[in-house]
Amino acid sequence: MSNVQVITTPAAMSDWSESARRRGERIAFVPTMGALHAGHVSLLAAAREEGDRVVLSIFVNPTQFGPKEDLARYPRDLDGDLAKAASVGTDVAFVPGGADMYPPGAQTFIDVREVSQGLCGDRRPGHFTGVATVVAKFFGIVRPHVALFGEKDFQQLAVIRRMVADLNLPVEIVGRPTLREQDGLAMSSRNAYLSPTERGRAVAIFEGLSAARARFAAGERQSSVLVDAALAMMQDRVDCIDYVEIRAADSLRLVERLEKPAVILAAASVGATRLIDNMRLG
Ligand code: AMP
Repeated sequence: MSNVQVITTPAAMSDWSESARRRGERIAFVPTMGALHAGHVSLLAAAREEGDRVVLSIFVNPTQFGPKEDLARYPRDLDGDLAKAASVGTDVAFVPGGADMYPPGAQTFIDVREVSQGLCGDRRPGHFTGVATVVAKFFGIVRPHVALFGEKDFQQLAVIRRMVADLNLPVEIVGRPTLREQDGLAMSSRNAYLSPTERGRAVAIFEGLSAARARFAAGERQSSVLVDAALAMMQDRVDCIDYVEIRAADSLRLVERLEKPAVILAAASVGATRLIDNMRLG
């Protein structure tokens, strides 16, 4: 198991990337907020296949958290993260500090409009502006040829694809499937917040989405019927349902009847922990 080189400043990261590019190496990039789990590791393993060099970033990005959200208590485990990253051959972990990424005086933010609206965009105002801005900054610093993101954060992936197309950013975007626990719960750094009883109830989100998918597989095409099937499974077991919606897989526009590839997306709280998940339909 080789060591991961830790780089902490944007200038040193850019120098490293410039040297790799001069050698003709293809750089694959996986941005994360750390507290790595098997889902993140699967992205790094896929990055290993995509590029000659793999760069991981670990940065709990303050601009994507709302004032009442979990920024201060977000799980952090740099040593554990580096060991997991090393196990799949990651070359570099870029771990900047807050002031490195947001020096005083910054006044440029990226606002991806339509796909940032609805779903998590409504429940977390400013969240996707924070995400798009920090990812664009990472692309400027790391200058990857390809960047990999999880479909677990489906709306985030759509926002990033839109931004890259709209700003002509020279980065290929690869989306990867959601890794799940044995019972189906989508892996998430936030699952660490769940008490044992909450953990038991959290699987209701997966089971709700699965119920909708089963109805879809049986031929049901009316969104409202599929959403109701999911809600019925979730209602008594989670504490608050933010949304269950069916949207077009590419544009994320709401759909009433499923004629093209779609996705059912859910966000719900179990105890104080807000969790998201989604499944493709067709
Ligand atoms: P995060 O650290 O939560 O910001 O996630 C970093 C990256 O890992 C994002 O592209 C996520 O979509 C992806 N990711 C998070 N959870 C999973 C999962 N269960 N399976 C696959 N990818 C994931």
